[in-house]
Amino acid sequence: MTSLSPDIIDKVASLIRDARKVAIVCHMTPDGDALGSSLCLMHALRAMGKNASVITPDAPPRSLTFLPGAQNITVASYNHDRAKYTFLHADLIFCLDFNDLKRIDRTAPMVEAAKAPVVVVDHHLNPVIKPEILISDPSKSSTSALVYEMLDAAGMSEFVGLEAATCCCAGMMTDTGNFAYNANDPALYSILSALMERGVDKDDLYNRLFNTNSLSRIRLMGFCQYARTHVLPEHHCAIITLSLDDARDFGYSKGDTEGLVNIPLSIPGIIYSVYLRQDEPGYVKVSMRSKGDFSVKEICEKYFSGGGHHNAAGGEINDTLDGALDRILHIIPEADRTIASITTDSTSQS
Ligand code: 5GP
Ligand code: MN
Repeated sequence: MTSLSPDIIDKVASLIRDARKVAIVCHMTPDGDALGSSLCLMHALRAMGKNASVITPDAPPRSLTFLPGAQNITVASYNHDRAKYTFLHADLIFCLDFNDLKRIDRTAPMVEAAKAPVVVVDHHLNPVIKPEILISDPSKSSTSALVYEMLDAAGMSEFVGLEAATCCCAGMMTDTGNFAYNANDPALYSILSALMERGVDKDDLYNRLFNTNSLSRIRLMGFCQYARTHVLPEHHCAIITLSLDDARDFGYSKGDTEGLVNIPLSIPGIIYSVYLRQDEPGYVKVSMRSKGDFSVKEICEKYFSGGGHHNAAGGEINDTLDGALDRILHIIPEADRTIASITTDSTSQS
């Protein structure tokens, strides 16, 4: 059953029509899709005459601040009172690109305390959130595409102007690596075409999203690939680490290692890749990527209090970097067995 059933769309459309103040929130450490979908919806709602605003739990990476409207976001970790006020006085709340309130950290109690109905629009598997309306479609490669489809189905696509379209396109591009993966759905290109009709400069967006680097990022990416990437071919696995010391030495800023975890997957035979980034002395952020049937989402859920998608997931470890590395090494035998069973399955099917 499609998540955009006529019944759901009617309800969302009437909630939007009746609302004057709309608060939009996306997950912490917002990526291009989280921010793109939120800003797209904000611009469309503003074009309808609504008072719409975007709240992010923490600051977006500098690399995304070029998105139209990004400068006006309320960052809850900097401006707690304003974020709280916005949720409390909203007539309608949209939660975009997450399906578990844990993903908005200390912003969660603000959403829980608000009286306004909550609409979740998301593409992650197995939602654990219980909003008034849940639009959840893991078959979609981005929440941004889903937001456009929702507005279109509600007869509101005329309110998607150039700024909304630019943000939507940015979200679609980042969650598909510029249409390089999860990008076989023909519907994506109909949406893209509709966005480009609004005047989106996709080439310029590509340059800003994928072809703009700070010197510190270039150097850090090179260093991590050269000195901090450990390949275990017999286990089909690669592990990358970034310590606080390394981060300091290279002037790391948020987003500087975006895409790093994907790189080892380009080595033939590597099925999954793990990136351990020490953010604080006793806290390590985990990012995992995989190819094919091997699920990193299951690993992140089971071992790292996290989740995400089948081939792209994350979580956290409250430990030192060495401790975190140790935990990864401990799950390798289980991963070996899973990979062996997947390989056996696919061999017996062929
Ligand atoms: P990334 O590795 O780029 O940070 O995240 C990849 C995917 O995993 C994203 O879809 C993101 O939403 C999800 N993810 C990352 N970290 C966490 C986490 O701590 N908890 C959950 N539930 N999902 C996460
Ligand atoms: Mn997304």
